[in-house]
Formats: sequence, structure tokens, C-alpha cells
Amino acid sequence: MRLSNNAEEILERLWIMTMETGKKTAGFKELKTAKNAPEVEELIALNYIDVSEKGIALNKEGMKEAEDAVRRHRLAERLMIDVFGIRKNLMEDTACQFEHLIRKAVEENICTLLGHPKVCPHGKPIPRGRCCRKGSRSPKSIVSSLADAKKGTKGKVAYLHTGDNKKLRKLMTMGILPGVLVEVVQTFPSHVFQIGHMQVAVDREMAGDIFIRLARRPGR
Ligand SMILES: [Zn+2]
Ligand SMILES: [Zn+2]
Repeated sequence: MRLSNNAEEILERLWIMTMETGKKTAGFKELKTAKNAPEVEELIALNYIDVSEKGIALNKEGMKEAEDAVRRHRLAERLMIDVFGIRKNLMEDTACQFEHLIRKAVEENICTLLGHPKVCPHGKPIPRGRCCRKGSRSPKSIVSSLADAKKGTKGKVAYLHTGDNKKLRKLMTMGILPGVLVEVVQTFPSHVFQIGHMQVAVDREMAGDIFIRLARRPGR
């Protein structure tokens, strides 16, 4: 059954709270809902939540469903930024509406298209899907990490994925910024890229933090 948007939002908020703070139950007010609200009744009927005096908590089934919803939300955000080029401050509303349209079959295609991104534009982890675990790299992929890019690959930096501020600063001082055109010059023993007139060398781990929107793929 297709969940209502409000019910899906509640699942997402509960999941994020549980994962980030370890707290399991959220009050109705905190969730901007009420005990007799239709979305709460909907979640009870589907057996996704446990309701008590204190509020709502996700049960095991609910956690799974919620994780999928968060995954769709964060993939939608990536899609907005990487593919549609929508600005971050305009992204939220569009992503929120878009995530509800992404269903199971499409979700894996989008994930593959984006190169199985690990984080959303806010730096929050995107729960892995079946497609990511298989590590499928479709030829349709338009975003790739530089660690996976072959020699000769060209593209513009789409985003930097690192939770580490020091590393992020290092990448940025090397001139690796979103929108900058890079070309892979060498992939072994270190990854070397051409950026403008400069050549930059990074180790494999750092190359894995740089995601580019592919301009063309060599040998295709
Ligand atoms: Zn996000
Ligand atoms: Zn994936």
C-alpha cells in the first residue's frame, strides 16, 4: 500500500532521531501530529509504529520502511543538485515532493545513475540499497567517484564527499571545488588529475571523496 506523504514524513523524522540521538520515542507535538491524526492511524494499521502515552516509536518493520523513505529523500536531494542543478536553498521543497514519487523500481535506477552516492548534499549518510551492495556500475552512470574513473575521464566536480573538515579543506585548497573541470591523467600508483594548468595528485582514499559529473566516458 502506498503511504500518505504525512505518514512518510513521520517515519523519516523518527528514523533520523533514532539513528542520530539513540532516542526512540518522540512526542506527538514534536512530530507535529496527534494521537488521532489520520497519518498516525495509517501507521498503526500498517503496524509500523508503537504508540504509548509518551508518543510514537518505530517498530522493526517501521524502521525498515523508514530507512527506505530516508533513502529516497536523500537520493532525491542528490538528484536535484547533481542532475537538475537546483540550488541547495531551493532544493528542500522540491526534494520533499519528489521523494514521494520515487518508488522502488525507479529508486535503484536513480541511485545507479548517480553512482550510488554515500551522502546527501547536507553530508548525511544515504542508507545503502540493494543496488549499492551489488556495487553495480551501470554504463548509464553519470556521476562517478574519481577513484573509479579511468584514465582519460573528464568531468566537472559534482560534490565532495567527506565528513572530515580537514580533508575537505585540503581538497578545496588544491582547487577541487564543485563545478571545476577535471581530467584523470593517471590512476596508479596515485590518482593524478589535470585541473586547468595544474596537476594534482591524491591517494585512492581521497580520490574516492571526489565525485564528478561525467562529460564523456573513455572507450564509449
Ligand atoms: Zn539532506
Ligand atoms: Zn545504489
